[in-house]
Amino acid sequence: MIHIMKNQHIHFFSIILCLVLAIACCSCTTFPRRDLSVPEYRAKAVDAYLAEFSDSFEGSKIGPAIHEVLMRMPQDALKIILNRRRPVLFVGVCSSGTAKFASSSEVIICEKDVPAFQQGMTIIKISDSLASGSSDAIMGIVAHELAHRVLDHIRHNHVSCQAEREANRLIKSWGFAKEYAAASKEFGHAKVGDGVASCQEEAPEKKELIK
Ligand SMILES: [Zn+2]
Repeated sequence: MIHIMKNQHIHFFSIILCLVLAIACCSCTTFPRRDLSVPEYRAKAVDAYLAEFSDSFEGSKIGPAIHEVLMRMPQDALKIILNRRRPVLFVGVCSSGTAKFASSSEVIICEKDVPAFQQGMTIIKISDSLASGSSDAIMGIVAHELAHRVLDHIRHNHVSCQAEREANRLIKSWGFAKEYAAASKEFGHAKVGDGVASCQEEAPEKKELIK
């Protein structure tokens, strides 16, 4: 009888142990998976996304730069980028004489089309010539293009110096001031992202003139 009781106790405790493990397992695999503030889960989400929507940029500094920008940008902005109903595609392009370092295009799908990418997509074209820059400068350019998507500039045809400055201000607020400075230094103001050719950052003397 005692022997049976012991077994029952062991059985009871193993059920409890299983339940505890199951709850622990569920909570670590389901709840934080959506929490992009946890670096481990963010890395998984970013890796899975880039495997689907990015060129491999194999052997280039561009791939790791994209990855780091996505790892560091604020969670709210990242959620906009990782929205698979309207994805951002990172496409490597070969540079030509007139190629920009990077540019963004919006694709809007007509209602009659098959229900894929129904909310359209953003294509960020990244020239291979960008790889000649430092990692910081490449990140500055990538963050700038992503800022245009977060601010939805291109789809609403906000292509102006004001939009450029807004994008630059946003990436600085994301913590990419050093990367913005590197991109400006190495690629020039006009070449930061899809830049409007003669755009300059706000100059104090111009502000005084407006007054
Ligand atoms: Zn731009």
